[in-house]
Amino acid sequence: MNQPQTIAIVGAGPTGLSAAILLRQRGYSPIVIERRPDITGYPAAHVANTRTMEVFAEMGVADRIWDAGDTNAMSSLVVWLESMAGREYGILPIQGAATDERGPLSAYNSVNIPQTRLEKILFDRFVELGGEVRFGQEVIDVRASETVELSLRNMADDACSGLRCDWLLGCDGAGSIVRRATGIEMDGPRTIARFMTIYFEADLDRFRQDRRGLLYWIGGPEARGVFISFDEIGRTWAMLVPIGDLPIEVFDDTAAIRIVQKAIGDLSAPVSLQAVSSWNMSAQVAQRYRHGRVLLAGDACHRFPPTGGLGMNTGIQDSHNLVWKLCAVIEGQAGDALIDSYERERRPIAQRNTDQSVHNLMKMGMIDAALGIEALAPVKADAGDGPVATWPAEVLGIDGDTPEARSRRAAVQSAIDEQAEHFAQGAGIDLGFTYAEGAFIPDGSPEPSSAPCEYRPDAHPGARLPFNSPDGSFAQSTLGAVQPAGITVFTADSRWAAIVDGVAVESGIDLHLVRFGEGARNLGPQARDLLGIGTSGAVAVRPDGHVLWRCAEWTHQSASELRDAARLITGETSRQASREAERSLAN
Ligand SMILES: Cc1cc2nc3c(=O)[nH]c(=O)nc-3n(C[C@H](O)[C@H](O)[C@H](O)COP(=O)(O)OP(=O)(O)OC[C@H]3O[C@@H](n4cnc5c(N)ncnc54)[C@H](O)[C@@H]3O)c2cc1C
Repeated sequence: MNQPQTIAIVGAGPTGLSAAILLRQRGYSPIVIERRPDITGYPAAHVANTRTMEVFAEMGVADRIWDAGDTNAMSSLVVWLESMAGREYGILPIQGAATDERGPLSAYNSVNIPQTRLEKILFDRFVELGGEVRFGQEVIDVRASETVELSLRNMADDACSGLRCDWLLGCDGAGSIVRRATGIEMDGPRTIARFMTIYFEADLDRFRQDRRGLLYWIGGPEARGVFISFDEIGRTWAMLVPIGDLPIEVFDDTAAIRIVQKAIGDLSAPVSLQAVSSWNMSAQVAQRYRHGRVLLAGDACHRFPPTGGLGMNTGIQDSHNLVWKLCAVIEGQAGDALIDSYERERRPIAQRNTDQSVHNLMKMGMIDAALGIEALAPVKADAGDGPVATWPAEVLGIDGDTPEARSRRAAVQSAIDEQAEHFAQGAGIDLGFTYAEGAFIPDGSPEPSSAPCEYRPDAHPGARLPFNSPDGSFAQSTLGAVQPAGITVFTADSRWAAIVDGVAVESGIDLHLVRFGEGARNLGPQARDLLGIGTSGAVAVRPDGHVLWRCAEWTHQSASELRDAARLITGETSRQASREAERSLAN
């Protein structure tokens, strides 16, 4: 390793803790600064998707998260109804399983787990690896030049202090001071709508019966909002309520409980209020992810509607993309340009996920329209006392046997059916993203489909390596064989061993050979087909499981092509040039 370098992370949310664990696993000791007094809080995110679970497997926490989560929720239902006790408008199944006719697309499915529980597991893992979070410290300013200087405020006594680091990861969420201090602007609307989240506990199991759901969308004359289920037994909930321009303070505890009870449809239902908070629904992506030695990840550089459950997942996957690159640069195995590929790869994914989340949100408006309710219409300030909605009861007009009521009901049903893509998008959105530009070498093959519901495994350069496993486990799978540093080369042909060794020596980068097939490692029955190579071909994979380069069959150019792929990581040409420039300056 070159000179030891100090890496600081602002924010111990899911993005910051993931970066911290991945760095710790690579032997670094990041300084994690968090303004909360401890790891507790209230949940927002609840769905960890398939790709995130694979990242968690690398971090050594996938099984813990699976065990602590509601693993059935992602194959349960989304229900639209007047209130939990009231009439039901329609039901849609969630298709969370990552599988196609050839078998599982991953060792994992998505899981429903409250963000708080997930953060605690990540925090424990970081501590287990010897890491430490500096709680109760708020970053109040950042100055970045050759090194990065932070001004900190101790939340307990207001005492100020400073911290200098070589690299700073801004994982400090939507209001990111790191982003603002480095002058990085966001593109896109800051406020689409404002919401209040009411966290509560109540035994709602009796209302779920044969319609066990992840989400209950409530739209009636007496109630309006979404119930998110955070556990299997139907006790822990959040209700999201659109509040428009109203300040959160107008809703005291009594009003919040009343709003929940109206949505339950039982004004005497016992509700234990846990907390109330407000937030902006935005659709923004940062113009840049990097300012010199400062890098942004997670909500600090993208924030979008929760319709799609992608915010936290995108943030964790940002960290996964970034950490190996940063380590490779610090360790002198890669040129600085590798870090620039982080923004080139991840920013378009954030934009895609923003667009998809907004698209899902707008489509949800079709149901409101069919019910005769203005989309995202806020509740009234006195929602706890009077009727919750601003529209009269009769506007719903879907009861009775009149032709109008019948056609209204049909419109509601068809609007609900239209949401299928949103709740079945699993594999396409979660696994099917391919980097269009960045640290990989295109092989001229057509880019895989980017349709939200569609994912065909394809080792297209820039895409996630397809999963295949002899026993279904991650550890024995293609993805499980990828090494956390350097380049992993998959092939069935033993001739590659000498080439791989040669390129490793020439480039100074670690190359690991994974030979599979007869007489070698078993990576599953379809490994070669899924990799899209012939018997003599090879696929080179980056530490984040994305394909760097693919060669369908061995040719006499193969060695030099693999060398070029290694050079793309090492940035050899530019590093050599700068070394020569330094030498000539010194003379
Ligand atoms: C209702 C709702 C439901 C959602 N559901 C999902 C879902 O199912 N799946 C999904 O993927 N996403 C979901 N999201 C989005 C998800 O919650 C966020 O995208 C996620 O929390 C972002 O993680 P992060 O670590 O980037 O930022 P945050 O979680 O915001 O963490 C940032 C951390 O930085 C700390 N911090 C901030 N400023 C400072 C400072 N100046 N100094 C020190 N510390 C600081 C904060 O205290 C915080 O701990 C949902 C969001 C909402 C509102």
